[in-house]
Amino acid sequence: MRKCAVCGSSFERYAGLDPVYIENPKKYGRKIKVKSELLNPEEYSCPVCYSADRDRMIVLFIKKLREAFGTTAPSVKFLEVAPSAALKRYLYKEWGESFLYTADLYMDNVDFKVDIQNMEEIPDQTFDFIVCSHVLEHVKDDQKAMGELNRVLKDAGLGILLVPINLFQEQTDEEWGLSEEENWRRFGQGDHVRAYNKLDYVARLEANGFCVLELNKNYFDKDDYEANAFNDTATLYLVHKNPDIYSSLEEIADKFKETHLNDTYLYKNVEEGVCNYWIDLCRHENDQLQIWGWAYFREHDSRKTKLKLHLAGRSIQRTFAFDLRYRQDVCQLFGESCGFSGIDILKDVSISDMEGGKVSLRLYNEGSCYTIPLSVERIEENEPDCNIDLL
Ligand SMILES: [Zn+2]
Repeated sequence: MRKCAVCGSSFERYAGLDPVYIENPKKYGRKIKVKSELLNPEEYSCPVCYSADRDRMIVLFIKKLREAFGTTAPSVKFLEVAPSAALKRYLYKEWGESFLYTADLYMDNVDFKVDIQNMEEIPDQTFDFIVCSHVLEHVKDDQKAMGELNRVLKDAGLGILLVPINLFQEQTDEEWGLSEEENWRRFGQGDHVRAYNKLDYVARLEANGFCVLELNKNYFDKDDYEANAFNDTATLYLVHKNPDIYSSLEEIADKFKETHLNDTYLYKNVEEGVCNYWIDLCRHENDQLQIWGWAYFREHDSRKTKLKLHLAGRSIQRTFAFDLRYRQDVCQLFGESCGFSGIDILKDVSISDMEGGKVSLRLYNEGSCYTIPLSVERIEENEPDCNIDLL
């Protein structure tokens, strides 16, 4: 029986890899034998959430970090390059106070539309955790990209940097600007520009300032390998910048917790229904963000609830504090202690601040924190008036 680490679904088998990835290299004359270190072509993706095996392995590691925090909710800034839906789904569910930022050169709806070889709009030491999975084999100068990832990672941060590793690849083969057919033949995929040798990949990371730890079946539970249909050789490349903090693999999760405790909140109320809310209206019009609604913690006196609006745009991150208002209707429905829970926000926020931005409301009460993600309706300014009266 399989059980997906990302969505928790159980089933008989994962779906196999699309056969084109096996047939095309042969078709274009790739001769080298292939034994992938991580990818399992027989059972590759979850039939429910479509997570790839590498997504499941990344989530397994991040779960170990989460466990170390116990009942506290860490505030961790994640960056995912070329984001996958699987990680997003997991983070929203389990890391309440944390925030996921995304970066990609080609995708829309990312926080940073950047080339990872040059991310100059992102300041040094910005992120606590970086995931860059199956990207470096596509870029022209992978070492420049590694240097950039190193620069934007905090001193006490961690990263998972993955590329396809064929254990039969004796040395790294690379060339930029070949035809798609040549890419299939030399690198095994039409849009790859290199095929890495395992030792050389680690050496390149180290040459760009990273310490590299290999997380394999010695680190994870045997049952997790079985449940997620990982190859025996499946390995995550975990990187960091600071051997003084991360001296041993066993203590990684605890050390990460220690260095990220300043911004944590006690996080008691995570079950569904413990925080109830209803957003009546959430829209952006004439450079104003308007939010009306109500929210309350079931177990707390909502007169003590503090509310913050969190706005994370392409280049900005702002937090506004608000007081809750008395709402007769909420009070009648849910009792007197829930009455002070009306959300009433009218805030000047420019259109450029909203561009690609994510908005969430955060409720704090007696050490608990709850995050409500919001989707903002955009009302265009100066819409042409179509109601022309024909006399
Ligand atoms: Zn799944």
